[in-house]
Amino acid sequence: MLGFESSCDETGVALIEVEGGQPPRLLAQALHSQIAMHQAYGGVVPELASRDHVRRVLPLAREVLSQAGLALHDVDLIAYTQGPGLAGALLVGAGVAVSLAAALDVPALPVHHLEGHLLSPFLSADPPEFPFVALLVSGGHTQLMRVDDVGAYEMLGETIDDAAGEAFDKSAKLLGLPYPGGPHLARMAEFGNPEAFALPRPLLHSGKPDFSFAGLKTAVLTQVKKLGLDGGQPCEQTKADLAASTQAAIVEVLVKKSLLALKETGLKRLVVAGGVGANAKLREQLNAACAKRGVRVHYPELALCTDNGAMIAMAAALRVQRGTADARRDGGFEVRPRWDLSAA
Ligand code: ATP
Ligand code: MG
Ligand code: FE
Repeated sequence: MLGFESSCDETGVALIEVEGGQPPRLLAQALHSQIAMHQAYGGVVPELASRDHVRRVLPLAREVLSQAGLALHDVDLIAYTQGPGLAGALLVGAGVAVSLAAALDVPALPVHHLEGHLLSPFLSADPPEFPFVALLVSGGHTQLMRVDDVGAYEMLGETIDDAAGEAFDKSAKLLGLPYPGGPHLARMAEFGNPEAFALPRPLLHSGKPDFSFAGLKTAVLTQVKKLGLDGGQPCEQTKADLAASTQAAIVEVLVKKSLLALKETGLKRLVVAGGVGANAKLREQLNAACAKRGVRVHYPELALCTDNGAMIAMAAALRVQRGTADARRDGGFEVRPRWDLSAA
C-alpha cells in the first residue's frame, strides 16, 4: 500500500507491504520538507505549503515506486492523511490519493495524522506491545493517551493552550533562532546552564496529566527584554543559558506528567511520538525516570519523529490487518482540518 502525508509542511510518500499477520514491512519512503521555503517568513505560510505539495507529491510517489522496483498497478490500497492539519495542504494529498485510487480501482483509506505519529514506533526494529501510555508531543499537539490497541485511544490529558513543540518554536524565535526552532534551541541548550533561569512549570502540580505552555513563552519574552537579548548584543552564553532553562522546563513537565499517566493507568510501557520526541534531553530524562520504575520506553526512529509518509502507511497497514480500515472506493473524500483522535 501507498501512503501520502501532506498535513503541514512536509510532503511524504511511502510504500508498505502487508502479508497476512506478519508485521507490515516498509519497502520505500521519500520525503520533501518545505522548511527552507517557509523559513524566510518565520513560520508555515499555508498557501505556499499547498502549492509546494502539488509540485512534490507525484515525483515523490514515482521515487518510492522506483526505489521498491514496483509499478503503480502493484499498489492494492492508497492511504492518505485526512486531518488534522492545514485544509489546503490536506486537500492536495487527499485529492491525489483518492484520484490515484479511483484510476487504479483500489480502495482509498483516510488516516488520522496523530494516529500516524502514535503508531510510528511500529516502524522501528523493536515495536511496542499493547497496551501502552502514549506521550504525543508534536508541533500542534501535546497529549497523553491510553492506547489499548490500534484504534482504541483514550485521552488522559492534553495541553490547555500551546503544544510542547510550539513552546520550543516560540521560545526559539525569541532567541533569534530560525523556524522551526525546536532542534536549534536544543542544540544551543547543550552549551547552557539549565538552572540559570527559574522559568515557570505551569500545572506541574495539578495532579492531572494536563499541560500548559503559554506562560513559558511569556516568561522567556520577559527575560529576553530584561537582558536586552533582542538588541543584537554578543551574549551567546546568556542565550544558551536561557535556551537550556527553557528546555529543562518543558522536559520536566513532560516527564512528570508521563509518570503520572503511567501511575494512573498502572501500565509499564510508554510510547513517545511526534517531533519533540526527537529531543535528546527528553529521551535522556524519560529513560532515566522510567528505568527506575521498570517502565519500557519506545520511540520512533529519529528521522520518523517529525512528519513522514511511512507513519501514515503504517497506520493504514495496521488498521487493514485488524479489519478496522474504513476505506472508500467511490472517489469521494473530505478533509478534516480539526479532528480529535479519540473520535477517530
Ligand atoms: P502536528 O503533528 O501536531 O500536526 P507537526 O506535524 O507540525 O504538528 P511534528 O512534525 O510532529 O509536528 O513536529 C514538529 C515539531 O517538533 C516542531 O515544533 C519542532 O520544533 C519540534 N522538534 C523537532 N525536533 C526537535 C528537537 N530535537 N527538540 C525539540 N523540538 C523538536
Ligand atoms: Mg513539519
Ligand atoms: Fe505531525
